[in-house]
Amino acid sequence: MASTPVRRAIAVFLLTAFLAPAACKSAGPDPTFAGPETPPTPSASASPSAVASPSPSAKPTPAGFKSLGWYMARVPQFPQAPTPQRVGLPESGSAIHWSRVPTTHKVAFITIDDGALSRKPEVIEFIRQAKIPVTMFLNSPAATEHTAYFKAIQEAGGMVENHTISHTSLKGKSYDFQKREICGSADKLEKLFGRRPTLFRAPFGEKDATTLKAAHDCGTQAVFFWTQTVDKGIVRYQTSEKVVKPGDVLLMHFRPALMDDLLGALKAIHKSGLTPALLEDYVG
Ligand SMILES: [Zn+2]
Repeated sequence: MASTPVRRAIAVFLLTAFLAPAACKSAGPDPTFAGPETPPTPSASASPSAVASPSPSAKPTPAGFKSLGWYMARVPQFPQAPTPQRVGLPESGSAIHWSRVPTTHKVAFITIDDGALSRKPEVIEFIRQAKIPVTMFLNSPAATEHTAYFKAIQEAGGMVENHTISHTSLKGKSYDFQKREICGSADKLEKLFGRRPTLFRAPFGEKDATTLKAAHDCGTQAVFFWTQTVDKGIVRYQTSEKVVKPGDVLLMHFRPALMDDLLGALKAIHKSGLTPALLEDYVG
């Protein structure tokens, strides 16, 4: 039975190991730290890359620390995604507002918002190695301050989209105010990442008709709400039917538990018989 100081010492050791340079993470023997809350799944043994697969029977650690290998070993095996088919957008002076993509393809979309609060380095590797298609709705000051981080996710296949400058609720604000927030952020993100965002998410999901007009005038094709939220690894559904449906959009944030959120989203999508796909392959 480990005493508290011993547990603390182990935790410090593990934390130190965890903070080693990213290049070391997937190469050497990979100590695995299975959290007690998630039983290993038999389907999770094969990873899509050559990363060392840890034993799913690894013991939990006092710190609850889970390595990249732990997450990789639990990524479900998805059927091959269908060839994407773009959805038609009505010609209008306003951007369309959607909670989900009107597609019958058996796909769902993972979106990650904000960017200022937490940026764990292992998230980049997880997205790259597990080939997770993600769309990032970023606030431009966070993107400016941490460009290298988001560029690394972009290089891993992620897309950068627009989430305003100041993360202020836009609903009820003047056209000029909203346009400044949306165009100002789009201009900055285009400069930083080499592509002008075509999608927009309003802070807190709060928008009005002016938002959709201003978004359109800033080059936005679609404004997205969401169908599920994911926090601390738990997927929350908006209906009592706990299933991810074709075209659904899952929302999570750059928060400390993003690794758990990504894994939770992948598991929920898999359980629903769907495959994750890139939002921009369908819209924009
Ligand atoms: Zn936000």
